[in-house]
Amino acid sequence: MHIDIITVHPQLLQSPFAHSIMKRAIQKGLATINVVDLRNYGIDAHKKVDDYAFGGGAGMVMMIEPIANCIDDLKSKRHYDEIIYMTPDGETLTQNTCNRLSTLKNIIVLCGHYKGIDERLREHYITKEISIGDYVLSGGELPAAVLCDAVIRLIPGVLNDETSALSDSFQDNLLSPPVYTRPAEYNGWKVPDILLSGNTKKVEEWRHEQAIERTKLRRPDLLQ
Ligand code: SAH
Repeated sequence: MHIDIITVHPQLLQSPFAHSIMKRAIQKGLATINVVDLRNYGIDAHKKVDDYAFGGGAGMVMMIEPIANCIDDLKSKRHYDEIIYMTPDGETLTQNTCNRLSTLKNIIVLCGHYKGIDERLREHYITKEISIGDYVLSGGELPAAVLCDAVIRLIPGVLNDETSALSDSFQDNLLSPPVYTRPAEYNGWKVPDILLSGNTKKVEEWRHEQAIERTKLRRPDLLQ
């Protein structure tokens, strides 16, 4: 999978891809990340990418031209399955969306700033708008990194144990069951006996029951 991320703060996107699972995915050639500095498409000597909002009011708006030129440039090199804008008024990101996106070949992720981007870009260029939750961040870089992490770990071959993504929360509309590791007793707090029994079938049953219990308690909406 190839992901182009358009941003005015490329440095904000260095670290997330330089460690852990995303780093490994890139090293294995399962994902390529190209961070595009929007400033290179800025207008005039100041490399301007934003301007005052028509109609007045506080806050700058990201201009059409630099973003349109940048996307056109990228499109001249490959076909994109989705051009995604990270925005708090987009559809809330879910595991379902991540599963679908993980099957795509090429996507663009556009990070907004200030008051957001000129609406006409959303009408004519953007094919999908994603929010990472009902709160407002200063820019789209952290949301873009969240999206990439959630999607890239689902690409076959990225996680060592392939089944581990399948047993994560939300994959079957259930939350994950509780997990434990050594020592079996700490401070008098014991690990449930069943997990030490060695009976794989019973352990699986227990985990499934726990997942259902936990979901009923914490996220009954998922069971509907
Ligand atoms: N004025 C806008 C918020 C702009 S925040 C509004 O009220 O809707 C600046 C940028 O940060 C946005 O363009 C978007 O790219 C990013 N952003 C902020 N919060 C986000 C969220 N919850 N999900 C995805 N992107 C977000």
